[in-house]
Amino acid sequence: VQDTQTVVKSHLNQEAKQFDICVVGGGILGVSISFWLSELFDCRIAIIEKEQDLSFHTSSRNTGVLHRPFYLDPEKKGIMARAAEKSYHMWSKFASLNNLPWAPVGTLEVALKDEDLTTLDKYKEWSITNGMGENETEILDFQGVKSLEPEVKCAGAFFSKGDTSVDYRDFTIALANLARKNGVVLLPHSNVKVVEETKSGVVITLERKPAEAKSSIECKLLINAAGGGSVDIAHMMRLGKNYTDLYFRGEYWIVDEPFASKITHNIYSVAKYKEFPFLDPHYIIRANGIREIGPNAVLVFGPHAYNGISTSASQLIKQLFEQPNLPKVRLFVDRQFLSLVWNEWRSSISKKAMCGRVKQFIPSLDHSTLNKRGISGIRSSLIDDHGFIPEAVLLSSDKSFHIMNYNSPGATGAPSYSAYIVSQLGERGFLGGFNKKITNRAKALWDYEGASDLGT
Ligand SMILES: Cc1cc2nc3c(=O)[nH]c(=O)nc-3n(C[C@H](O)[C@H](O)[C@H](O)COP(=O)(O)OP(=O)(O)OC[C@H]3O[C@@H](n4cnc5c(N)ncnc54)[C@H](O)[C@@H]3O)c2cc1C
Repeated sequence: VQDTQTVVKSHLNQEAKQFDICVVGGGILGVSISFWLSELFDCRIAIIEKEQDLSFHTSSRNTGVLHRPFYLDPEKKGIMARAAEKSYHMWSKFASLNNLPWAPVGTLEVALKDEDLTTLDKYKEWSITNGMGENETEILDFQGVKSLEPEVKCAGAFFSKGDTSVDYRDFTIALANLARKNGVVLLPHSNVKVVEETKSGVVITLERKPAEAKSSIECKLLINAAGGGSVDIAHMMRLGKNYTDLYFRGEYWIVDEPFASKITHNIYSVAKYKEFPFLDPHYIIRANGIREIGPNAVLVFGPHAYNGISTSASQLIKQLFEQPNLPKVRLFVDRQFLSLVWNEWRSSISKKAMCGRVKQFIPSLDHSTLNKRGISGIRSSLIDDHGFIPEAVLLSSDKSFHIMNYNSPGATGAPSYSAYIVSQLGERGFLGGFNKKITNRAKALWDYEGASDLGT
């Protein structure tokens, strides 16, 4: 990152103002898209990031699990499922070439009640449809679970043996280094404030720290991969006005030893409310071996409200009354939604309440073993008049392309999903003006054709 900042400073000193492509967002998605574009095309690319470092927000504030796609309904989440399947093999090669942590701990997704056991059969079916091997998974009865994890109590579980713990920040930085070698310029401390489409391209007004001075740059194509800021950027360009987003903070607690090591797999429970982004907290093993419980999903009023209730009173008011507010009004009169919001809040305020949720499947876990909070992350969930949107939403104008609602397992699926985005850009005629590179190094690492084909 220090390297990155040096490059940026010297670049800004030379007053670079024109690029072929500007990618807004230095998270795992923006970096992966920039990597592919710089591998395939001879053009000037900049990543615009408002923070001082890459991977500052969600891409380094997550559970760190490389999810196998057994739990993704191929009908509703097929694109993400196929991206996750392909990316698992891509990340595996990437981690080994770059010496990055790779801990294949496996996940037990537990059925708390007999009624949930049918979901495990469904997972088996989905795992095969989504491309997983027959031997990668197993349905266990309660005794099978006991012999694997004596502390876990449940009616049965789906065992996905390949789920792997990684550090997505490391992955993002390593991939950004490859993009940089291909000539991609990184512009940190550059907050996109205004975007205007002109006849010849896009003019982006940036607010730059530390002086907060305004400056503008131009590009032929803008790609919006700004995570929690992506809806605002789309709205700046008068796109996606029927969408708005809600922010849910996922909080974690670190489990102390000696209890922590008694459990050797990730333990998730079958989701109760599939239409809402509320998952019961899991027991997870980080890539560095630390055990945590989490995340919950506490409604907050900003994409970076990592502590407290909201980032500021003005942000709260802006969020509630921001147009379109009808989708929010609809949700806020839904009693089930409100009761879930309330329960999540309880587990934010009370460590005992949070622990109680995990105790449903690990009864011996005591809240006295939870003495330090982990790093919380915020999920931005897109809603429209019909409620929550299950997959990522792609929008475009003449000279811009926008990816919104890129949520879990977004970090898992990034290498393949970003290749798919590049293929979408090609199909929609955005890349016609740029020269293709004759050879690309990516072939030695990842195969673009295979990665980008998500069967749509
Ligand atoms: C609690 C939690 C747990 C998760 N666990 C997992 C998991 O275990 N496995 C998994 O695969 N996925 C997981 N995810 C999902 C995954 O982390 C995300 O899908 C992924 O990180 C999204 O990457 P991104 O690049 O789109 O967003 P980000 O990483 O948020 O990047 C967007 C970037 O855009 C920048 N930006 C925003 N607005 C502007 C602006 N106006 N100007 C300039 N820059 C701007 C931001 O600063 C940010 O750096 C989890 C998510 C959460 C919230």
